[in-house]
Amino acid sequence: MAEYTTIASNFVQNAIEEDLKNGKYTEGIHTRFPPEPNGYLHIGHAKSICLNFGLAEYNHGLCNLRFDDTNPTKEDTEYVDSIQADIHWLGFSWQNRMFYASDYFDKLYDYAVELIRKGLAYVDDLTAAEIKAYRGTLTEPGKESPYRNRSVEENLDLFARMKAGEFSDGEKVLRAKIDMAAPNMVLRDTVIYRIAHTHHHRTGDKWCIYPMYDFAHPLSDAIEGITHSVCTLEFEEHRPFYDWLLDSLGFDPNSRPRQIEFARLNLTNTITSKRKLRQLVEEGIVRGWDDPRMPTISGLRRRGYTPASLRNFCEEIGVAKGNSLVDVAMLEHCVRDDLNEHADRVMAVLHPLKVVITNYPEGQEEYLVADNNPMHGGSRFVPFSREIYIEQEDFMEEPPKKFFRLKPGGEVRLKHAYIIKCEEVIKDASGQVVELHCTADLDSKTGGATAGRKIKGTVHWVAAKTALKAEVRMYDYLLETDEDGNVPADFLNALNKNSLKVIGDALIEPSVKLTAAGTHYQFLREGYFVVDPDTTPDKLVFNRVVGLRDSWAKAAKKG
Ligand code: ATP
Ligand code: MG
Repeated sequence: MAEYTTIASNFVQNAIEEDLKNGKYTEGIHTRFPPEPNGYLHIGHAKSICLNFGLAEYNHGLCNLRFDDTNPTKEDTEYVDSIQADIHWLGFSWQNRMFYASDYFDKLYDYAVELIRKGLAYVDDLTAAEIKAYRGTLTEPGKESPYRNRSVEENLDLFARMKAGEFSDGEKVLRAKIDMAAPNMVLRDTVIYRIAHTHHHRTGDKWCIYPMYDFAHPLSDAIEGITHSVCTLEFEEHRPFYDWLLDSLGFDPNSRPRQIEFARLNLTNTITSKRKLRQLVEEGIVRGWDDPRMPTISGLRRRGYTPASLRNFCEEIGVAKGNSLVDVAMLEHCVRDDLNEHADRVMAVLHPLKVVITNYPEGQEEYLVADNNPMHGGSRFVPFSREIYIEQEDFMEEPPKKFFRLKPGGEVRLKHAYIIKCEEVIKDASGQVVELHCTADLDSKTGGATAGRKIKGTVHWVAAKTALKAEVRMYDYLLETDEDGNVPADFLNALNKNSLKVIGDALIEPSVKLTAAGTHYQFLREGYFVVDPDTTPDKLVFNRVVGLRDSWAKAAKKG
């Protein structure tokens, strides 16, 4: 079991413990994660998943997966499949308890009929615009519909005919009969059923009326025996309606679901709205839902985020009652932390500059020992020969004072190998540096007589003959923000044109050959990278997960 330090102390857990102490929910704790299958899950959903599955696990209870599929026009089985894959990948299981709100369409219909019988629901002929106009405002009460006082018999008959398909979309709705003057607008005769002659991805053409979310959601929770319906703050004002509904239908207050609201996750530089994410996909601004720049779980996975890093992040941010904005640097800190421990460290040169070691025999090749990761040991051999590549940035012809890398006449240590000295700079016709001629101190490799010689700079390199060519995709935030990290409402006008830069001809040491998509590496001094599924036997493709510099840890230290 994970360490649930945040869960152990958060207010939702406190409420659960209070309920148990008061003798409620004697059958055990039961939560659910209820996505609408109208898009891919994103980092905000991860927070809800970690909380709901985490609460169940912490309390030795159960957590269901339930698809809230009451809106057939927007839903698709592609989303149903991706949602399951993402939850499993995060490391959670609903065992055999995967449900759909559509499983309950018959029951929900019966509950609606029961409300009508009790005089608590009526069929309304007002148009959507009229219903809106009659609803009043926060400061003025609403106005009752002229159809509000239809008899129970007439309502039963009309509702049955709605179901039978006698009316067209929008012609009639079923409404709860509560109070058009209620200060809480949700109680002003909420619409609970609408007509939609639309094919449903699971029930086909069986239904032409569909329950509204506010009707289906609390009842689905009650039907499944959910004890704690954990949801985001915007549903707080819907709670009185859910209570009214469950009261009206006679659900026992001691065992029916208790709704507890928490603040949704908002992240700097990041969109967490499925509607907006869908727009990015549909307008071709990104390659798809799993584009590594997307905050979707599938995008983060392809980018190289690990399940542990996302779960740790959800632990770190905690659960609160007030909305706030979390710095995306904290998410990056979590993945860096995980990869620092688990990713092997290899050498890759992103912008190669050729170096010839003139005193190293032509045709000679040797294998030097290199450690994989100081946190868990292991080592490998790295080939060395007369021609190597270093990073263009690691050489400067006219360097500033504190430049400790390679310069004319200067020395630098090649990681895991020799100390070299720059003897000659070769340029092309345009004056561009194209090659360096260096000599190596051949006694300076590990174990050699001069191995301990003090040299300020160490650079990474790859041997020319054995290096593998790779495409490396470097990412930046998809969107420009204000200085606080807020994404503007017209986000399509705030696209960062530099969010993807492709390096076509990076060179990597041969040990990474034939590694599977999803394998992580630290490229020494460059950052963390992951093998992308676009990789083929002929072409390696890497995504940069995150750089090495941890602005979050730095800021946290400063306090
Ligand atoms: P969106 O507005 O992006 O479509 P949603 O809330 O409509 O999101 P659902 O599929 O209904 O998406 O969400 C499933 C669950 O995930 C809900 O319980 C919802 O409260 C929760 N959730 C969605 N977004 C966030 C978020 N940013 N932070 C925490 N929980 C979230
Ligand atoms: Mg929703």
